[in-house]
Amino acid sequence: MTAAPSGRWHDVARAAGLVGADGVVRPTVFAEMSALADATGAINLGQGFPDVDGPTFVADAAVAAIRAGRNQYPPGPGIPELREAVAAHQERHYGVRLDPATEVLVTAGATEAIAAAVLALAGPGDEVVTLEPYYDSYPAVVAMAGATHVPVPLRAGPDGFRLDPAELAAAFSPRTRLVLLNSPHNPTGTVLERADLEAVARLAREHDALVVTDEVYEHLTFDGTRHVPLATLPGMAERTLTISSAGKTLSFTGWKIGWVSGPAALVAAVRTVKQFLTYVSGAPFQPAVALALADRDGRTQDYVRDLARSLARRRDLLCEGLVAAGFDVVVPRGTYFVVADGAARWGEDGVETCRRLPHEVGVVAVPVTAFCREGSPTADALRSRVRFTFVKREEVLVEAVRRLGG
Ligand SMILES: *Cc1c(COP(=O)(O)O)cnc(C)c1O
Repeated sequence: MTAAPSGRWHDVARAAGLVGADGVVRPTVFAEMSALADATGAINLGQGFPDVDGPTFVADAAVAAIRAGRNQYPPGPGIPELREAVAAHQERHYGVRLDPATEVLVTAGATEAIAAAVLALAGPGDEVVTLEPYYDSYPAVVAMAGATHVPVPLRAGPDGFRLDPAELAAAFSPRTRLVLLNSPHNPTGTVLERADLEAVARLAREHDALVVTDEVYEHLTFDGTRHVPLATLPGMAERTLTISSAGKTLSFTGWKIGWVSGPAALVAAVRTVKQFLTYVSGAPFQPAVALALADRDGRTQDYVRDLARSLARRRDLLCEGLVAAGFDVVVPRGTYFVVADGAARWGEDGVETCRRLPHEVGVVAVPVTAFCREGSPTADALRSRVRFTFVKREEVLVEAVRRLGG
């Protein structure tokens, strides 16, 4: 057996909570739960990807682009038509005006945009503030940058998961370089309210911190809840990079077309790093996503509105089933996910609950502690909670609910 190589990878594994007490690096809980789903034939509500593809007209545009020979390296910043469509989208939805030549960059999904932004803007000695629970790539990229991750808890209350203003303020210090903010929020389904966003904005201005926002669920909100980009708050456009992607909005998660927009100097910094990560990606998908985002005939708007409505119905279906099965749910206002508390019927340990569910019920979920730092107060507070996705066909959810009730 060869010795494990040294290098930054070990910091990444540790930051991602993948190093056991024995020092051995283990697979992620997502991999463990997906393997359990395969082994038991359970319905996988652990991983959040749609089981129905996005609009046919967008898929057709990608096929046409391949046939038309758009198969070589596209321009480093992304094809002009996609950068123009991103700028037009931001103006149409949020009134944000961007220069597509200098203020928009196309990336390999939101994931690369986040990684390149953190690597570009934070380094050793810098602190990066995020919500906790957090998307699993955040602590990993903060570790890659050699920066320090400072998570702020979201607390479960009667009206959903909320930020505590005092805890938020306590996370900021003279070393705070970056706030990496995700709303609508995975895994909780929370859509931060204006008051929360204003508190983040005020602290970022006071500490002269930059903000990177992960808005991949910007259009997937329910019950009339509206997503507000942080960049639209007073004084924030100049210090905020806004990230989104086609994956969630268009139900093409495998295409990995994302984008980042903001002040030219910040976008240039991200581009400097990004060009040495992937350089470019997704040549034939870029014109297809450009067509969808430009939305000259309104088909995308119709698609996304119907998707959000259908997701809200599927959320209700799953939430009712979870409640009937003895889970306590915090009803999400957006995203693909609901967090359910299994303490009453399944016990205090969400990891155990997720290991039992496939065998005893035939449904797979993931523990919320997988989105928390090991042993953190937030991980303790959310220990019995598990995340289910409802971005599956209605008949799949009906069967999952039937199994949960049985
Ligand atoms: C899915 C997801 C991403 C990744 O987006 P890609 O465009 O597939 O890279 C980033 N952030 C959050 C919160 C997500 O849920």
